[in-house]
Amino acid sequence: MKRKTPLEWKKYYESHMDEPAYHYDGPLGVELTEDGHTVFRLWSPVARWVKVLLYRTDTAEEGFRVCPMAWTEAGVWESRLSGRLTDVYYQFEVNVDGETFVTGDPQAKACGANGKRSMVVDLAATNPEGWEADKAPARGPEDIIYELHVKEFSWDSAGGFPEAYRGKYMAFTCPNTSLNGEGRVPTGVAYLKWLGVTHVQLMPVFDYGSVNETGRQEAFNWGYDPVNYNVPEGSYATDPHDGNVRIRELKSAVMALHKAGFRVIMDVVYNHSFSLDGPLQCTVPWYFYRVTETGGISNGSACGNDTASERYMCGRFILESVLYWAEEYHMDGFRFDLMGLHDVGLMNRIRQALNERFGPGEKLIYGEPWRAGDTAFENEAISADKYHLADLAPGIGIFCDDTRDALKGSVFDAADTGYVNGKPGMEKKIASGVRAWSGSGRSGSYADSPDRIITYVTAHDNHTLWDKLKVTTRERALRVRQNRLAASICLTSQGRPFMLSGEEFLRTKDGIENAYRSPISINRLDWQRSHAERAMADYYRGLIALRKRLPAFCDKTSAAPDRIRMLETEKGIVCFLADNRPGSTWEELLVVYNANDRPVTDTIPEGQWQVLSDGEDSWLWKREGGDRRLERGNLTVAPVSAVILGRVDEM
Ligand code: CA
Repeated sequence: MKRKTPLEWKKYYESHMDEPAYHYDGPLGVELTEDGHTVFRLWSPVARWVKVLLYRTDTAEEGFRVCPMAWTEAGVWESRLSGRLTDVYYQFEVNVDGETFVTGDPQAKACGANGKRSMVVDLAATNPEGWEADKAPARGPEDIIYELHVKEFSWDSAGGFPEAYRGKYMAFTCPNTSLNGEGRVPTGVAYLKWLGVTHVQLMPVFDYGSVNETGRQEAFNWGYDPVNYNVPEGSYATDPHDGNVRIRELKSAVMALHKAGFRVIMDVVYNHSFSLDGPLQCTVPWYFYRVTETGGISNGSACGNDTASERYMCGRFILESVLYWAEEYHMDGFRFDLMGLHDVGLMNRIRQALNERFGPGEKLIYGEPWRAGDTAFENEAISADKYHLADLAPGIGIFCDDTRDALKGSVFDAADTGYVNGKPGMEKKIASGVRAWSGSGRSGSYADSPDRIITYVTAHDNHTLWDKLKVTTRERALRVRQNRLAASICLTSQGRPFMLSGEEFLRTKDGIENAYRSPISINRLDWQRSHAERAMADYYRGLIALRKRLPAFCDKTSAAPDRIRMLETEKGIVCFLADNRPGSTWEELLVVYNANDRPVTDTIPEGQWQVLSDGEDSWLWKREGGDRRLERGNLTVAPVSAVILGRVDEM
């Protein structure tokens, strides 16, 4: 029998798109009913028949029961069994287009090892003690986002984590870890508190396919290859087999981070799947994935498949998944991988739904406003990319590659430089970055407010900041100054500051640009190094603490860019005044970035000014006896450094 080609499937769905079966809004997945039944529901309008297979464990070769599912309405297959089948594992057997697939449930909320079998779960029973009272800490004046990978965070034995928790969710539940367990130098969550960041962004924690959950403990991957979109990854759990454990442990991690004062953001990868033989594809072939007009597999993700967010049931799937993580796991925000592969309509519906349930803006949403290549949108869907920022609802932000690349050079050309490492002519871009590319009518601006912009210099992709500077700059002492200048600019620019974990202690991945499947020894946070390079970490820490006291930069409203007044100056210098009212000790700020390899001297504007931070010390504003004041004099700014001054007289 001849099977349908991807193009034939595409045509088939296009001609059936308006039918009720493709707009189903009722329940899916597993329901444990009050009257003691377990109901399985699978959406597959194209299946000829479907069965549900039940197993006692995730590895048992033989199942204990096979139940045919009945066709009900709108493309849904249903099986209603007596008894609450909690902790029973299951798969669907789906016959479609002459082929039979055995697959997990696309809607699975729990699963066994490697996500092959889904599990019926009583979610209330997975709650750790105290979960009902768990609450995110109140937000402060600024959100400072720190990007972390679960395994990288606690793998290093110098981190002093309990052996059983190394590389696991549970490492976040240890509030008092220290270097080598000696009780002196904080590591882990205690270190994050010391540093002063406010949000932890977890790299993918939903079940992904690239690491064998029952294999070597040191196996590593970033995890951008989802299998089960609504189940936590099993390799971070202390037991990957029992579907309850990973859920309880991720919840425990979120609760512990909340308790320690952090909000938790989840990195979500809805734009593609690990492979094309997963649950979405096996149950409704080529519905959830884009096919080009010529029958090719759309590959804007560079991962071999793009999900079709603009199709109703796919959009529904993604929206409900986001809401599920927010509700069930208390996630405080979402970072969308390759958001440019999603359609604007879906992103706006997600924003609206989160606002309605949790309050406007309470849950952060931002994403990568790009994709890796062309994608085959249908129905004239508009890409949620940088060029359509104005079409995205307020409260959806984007990573700012303009600031990132202006600071240190293109991520696509290792030898390319930026403002801090010697490229001339970058002053205008840096100045636009200070205003977060915001303010209507300004040249270079494309955002309506800094609320849209994630300001950063490095993330997990591409070189770490230190590795990039190593490529472009030979002398170490100069690299250190460049790094400090980059940090100073990020933390004195508007937008929402974001940093890669370890950036602040000269994190290196031995020059590997995209270490997504490099060994954990390359990727792990090196806690020894965090101590050895504590001077740089402390410089970041001072800037972070200072930032929270500077409304000039924390302001996310559309009026924020008007706070900044650029001053005329010479080449290599960016110099501006910033209105820092109200609520701060310093009503006005004067900030000077000097990228030149020589000191520059300038006359400061009238008034009495206090040096808050310079190229060496970001704690001057708080140092005892460090209250350096300047009046009418000249200000000398050291080579490759930034100086922040605060006005101390009344304006
Ligand atoms: Ca997995």
